[in-house]
Amino acid sequence: MEPLRNLVLTILSQNTTDANRDRAFAALMARFPTFPLLAAASPKDVEETIRVGGLARAKAKAILSALSRIHRERGEYSLDFLSGMSLPDARGYLTSFPGVGVKTANVVLLFSFRKAAFPVDTHILRVTKRLGLVPPAADLSRAALLLEPHVPPGEPMPLHINLIRLGREVCRPRDPLCPECPLLAVCPEGARRAENRGVAPR
Ligand code: SF4
Repeated sequence: MEPLRNLVLTILSQNTTDANRDRAFAALMARFPTFPLLAAASPKDVEETIRVGGLARAKAKAILSALSRIHRERGEYSLDFLSGMSLPDARGYLTSFPGVGVKTANVVLLFSFRKAAFPVDTHILRVTKRLGLVPPAADLSRAALLLEPHVPPGEPMPLHINLIRLGREVCRPRDPLCPECPLLAVCPEGARRAENRGVAPR
């Protein structure tokens, strides 16, 4: 996806479901089809348009302030210049925007620029904590930065997608399906749960 549209979409995805993110994004693009139109909109109109996605006031503010700064600094509505920057510099630029954290920045850098960023969402955070790959107290940002150096080259996208799928379908928040999990043999939490059930992990 075009990077600036992806930034807007990812800001809209914070603390909501994919379905409501998509509804909010579609409504926003229908009402303000170009970046100049969106940038000229009032915060109240943007907030109203994206209400279905939740946290509408904060998200409207984050989107409008990012557009305004990008245009002021670059003279256009584009993030294409990030392609020539190193991953840490590009991430540092994006996270300097209010309302843009490491997760949002990493989604844009991975999916729009194919940089080796590793976005961590709540599913990946839960799975990697249970696997003992990140400390129990780590938040999304810390986990992303801890895991990123260990992701093999070329693998961040499939790993990101497959860990989310594992978290949704198998390593569920409550009642994970450990006996069916392909990672059971290497998972401390899976072993602990197997011991509690009185069975040996495979
Ligand atoms: Fe999650 Fe259980 Fe798989 Fe470990 S073995 S990753 S706790 S489902």
